Formats: sequence, structure tokens, C-alpha cells
Amino acid sequence: MDFGFGPEEERFREEVRGFLAETLPADGKRDMAFLQEWNRKVREKRWVGFSWPEEVGGGGGSIAQQVILKEEMARAKAPPLGSCFMGLAWVGPAIIEYGTEEQKQRFIPDILDGTYQWCTGYSEPDAGSDLATLKCKGVLEGDEYVVNGQKIWTSIAMWSKWMILLVRTDFEVENKHDGITCLLVEMESPGITVRPIKNMSGGAMFAEVFFDDVRVPVGNRLGAEGEGWKVTVSALAHERSGIAEVTGLQRRLEGIRELARECARGGRPASEDPAIRQRIARADARIEAMRLNGMRFLTRQLRGEKLGSETSINKLHRAQLEVELGELALEIQGSRGPLAAGSDLVPAAGDWQRFALSWPEVVIGGGTPNIQKNIIAERILGLPKD
Ligand SMILES: Cc1cc2nc3c(=O)[nH]c(=O)nc-3n(C[C@H](O)[C@H](O)[C@H](O)COP(=O)(O)OP(=O)(O)OC[C@H]3O[C@@H](n4cnc5c(N)ncnc54)[C@H](O)[C@@H]3O)c2cc1C
Repeated sequence: MDFGFGPEEERFREEVRGFLAETLPADGKRDMAFLQEWNRKVREKRWVGFSWPEEVGGGGGSIAQQVILKEEMARAKAPPLGSCFMGLAWVGPAIIEYGTEEQKQRFIPDILDGTYQWCTGYSEPDAGSDLATLKCKGVLEGDEYVVNGQKIWTSIAMWSKWMILLVRTDFEVENKHDGITCLLVEMESPGITVRPIKNMSGGAMFAEVFFDDVRVPVGNRLGAEGEGWKVTVSALAHERSGIAEVTGLQRRLEGIRELARECARGGRPASEDPAIRQRIARADARIEAMRLNGMRFLTRQLRGEKLGSETSINKLHRAQLEVELGELALEIQGSRGPLAAGSDLVPAAGDWQRFALSWPEVVIGGGTPNIQKNIIAERILGLPKD
């Protein structure tokens, strides 16, 4: 079995490494001026939206090149490619696949340039894991949809100019996945109220969003009426081999090894404690298993096969590993572990404390472990639903 990349891909890897070595500051400082310059340079290289077709301003990169780019970026701890996170992750791909020519011209350049942020209005108080039960209502009146209802857990709603929103336009359908429509909504529209929600680390990253007779032009509908589910699912289905996330986890584990050498346990470095060593070794083996699984998915994508439910395996692995690494990092610090990230007593300026509290993003966002297990059981192992 050969898991290596071909000579052309390796040349691309060298190009990426050379660029990162030249561009990233040696002292690790990432001030505003650097980030602005970084965004300009990576945009110039067409690495923002690297997998998108060239005709919409993307890089036209192959799947293997995308993996290499993400791997090298994670290895070098580079800042993200582009600043419009949700726009690049799923709104842009959805617009490219289902948008009208006018929508592509209107939104794609701003997503690539990071002119403003997008947020995602999917979850509702009674529709999370079972998203298709959503009730936020859109009624077509003339050439506008009138939207009423509520969304919740909407990340960065407070700083977003646009939202990709799922509404129910038909309440009579037999199949709950039908009758859902996707709208692109300007957050400054009259009738939208955003109420931030505080999370357990004290910050407010997400919000409740209320819609009272919000009018959305029919020209802002993405895809056909009633086909919002299809739009949403397919947008999330591009590059999902999970290999880039593996590099991030490997870096985290490297950091934990360093931490274990620095922190004392019973008068000796924690790295000499057999219990800690065993947990590090176990995490290492699981990350390697995740990498090999990712390689399997990548091979299938390179053969032109579409990935389906299998990606739930890596999503589940990653969620479990993030929690495990966070707990391990705090445990290694002993009594300093539970201190607040801002305390002078914590190592690495509280980076590990912040990491340990950030697990809900990876674990709950995009589908909880239970849901991933259901998918693996039913669609991969063929087990019965009940
Ligand atoms: C940090 C963060 C950011 C988020 N950002 C966004 C965002 O930007 N936009 C957005 O729309 N949403 C966002 N979400 C919401 C997220 O998608 C939902 O929280 C998630 O889908 C779970 O839904 P829920 O919270 O309603 O929980 P529920 O669906 O009510 O689940 C509660 C518990 O029951 C379990 N459960 C539910 N159904 C089953 C089942 N069939 N079998 C077994 N167990 C089950 C779940 O695993 C979970 O443990 C975010 C969430 C978090 C934590």
C-alpha cells in the first residue's frame, strides 16, 4: 500500500512550505498589519477558495492539493485562508452549486475578500439534531417571502451582515425534509432581533435570532422553493476526508508532550508519569488511525467517488480526541488546570484552558456524537433504526 503523494503534489507542497517560511513571522507575532498583509497575499495566490472553480474567482485546486495546503497550513500554525469562515466553508459552495449568476456575482467576491461575515440560521429551540422539524415560517407574498419565527445558537450573528437561513414554506408535506426553503437574508432587515447568549467560558459567540415579518426578496432564495434541504446537505459534502484536522490534532498532541515535560508531578516531570505516558500514547495511536481512515476517504475521492456517511467516523473520532486532549492538558497542569485562562499562573498564557473549554464547537456543532453514532450504525453497519 502506498499512501504517498505524486511528484506534482510534492512540488506543490514545497511551494506552500516556501511561501509559509517566507511569510510567517519568525517571532510568531500576528498583529493586525500582518493579518491584513497575509489576507492580501493568500488571496493573490488564489488559495482562498482554493477548491472553487476558477471562473468564480477560486483557485481550481485538485482534491490532493487542497489536502496538502491544509496540512501544511496546520503544521505551520498559519492563520486561516480568508476571513469569512462560514462563507468559505458552506455558504460559498452552496451559492456556487445552486445560486443564480446574479447571486454568484453579488456574493462570491465578497466571501473571497472577507468583506463581511455570514452566519447560519439552521437550529431552532425545538429543531437541532432533528433539523428537518424546523418551524420558522416563510410565506411568499408577491415577490417577497415574509419570515416569522426563531433561530438559536446562531454563531457570530452579532457581527454578520448576511445569514443563510432555512425556513419552512410548506407545512403540508408528508416527508419532513421536503417543504424547506433556503433564503439569503440581510441581517439589517427590519424585523430581525439578535440576542447574544453567553457560553460557559464567559464569552458570547452565539445568539438567538428572532424574525417578525421580515421581508426577503424572492431573488434571495437559494435553489428552488422546497429544496432547501438538498441545498444545505450538498454544500456541506465537499472536501471532508478529515486529514487536515489530523494535522491540527498532531500539533496539539506535540504541545501536550512539551507541556508534560515542563509541568512537575510529584517532584518529577509529568512526562515521566506512566499514566500520562499511556494516555499520550493512546491519543497518538487514535490520531494515526484517524489519519489512515482519512487517507482511505481521500483515495475514494481521487477515484471520483462521492463521500457519504463514512465521514461521520472522522467527525466522531475528532470530537472524542478534542475532549480527551483538553482534559489531559488540564490534568497535566495539576492544581493549575482549573484556573481561568487569564490567570498569571497558567502555562502558555491560558491557551490550554481555552482549548479545553472550546470542545462544544467541535463536539456539538454540526451534529453531536450520538447522531454520528446513529449514522454509523444505520448507514454503514446496516443496523436497524430501533
Ligand atoms: C458552539 C456551537 C455553535 C453552534 N453554531 C450554530 C450555528 O451557527 N447555526 C446553527 O444553526 N446551529 C448552531 N449550533 C447548534 C447545533 O447545530 C445544535 O446544537 C446541534 O445540532 C444539536 O442540537 P440541539 O442543541 O437542539 O440538541 P438536541 O438535538 O436536542 O440533542 C440533545 C441531546 O440529545 C441527543 N440526541 C438527539 N437526538 C438523538 C437521537 N436520535 N439519538 C441519540 N441521541 C440523540 C443529542 O446527541 C444531544 O446529546 C451550534 C452549537 C454549538 C454548541
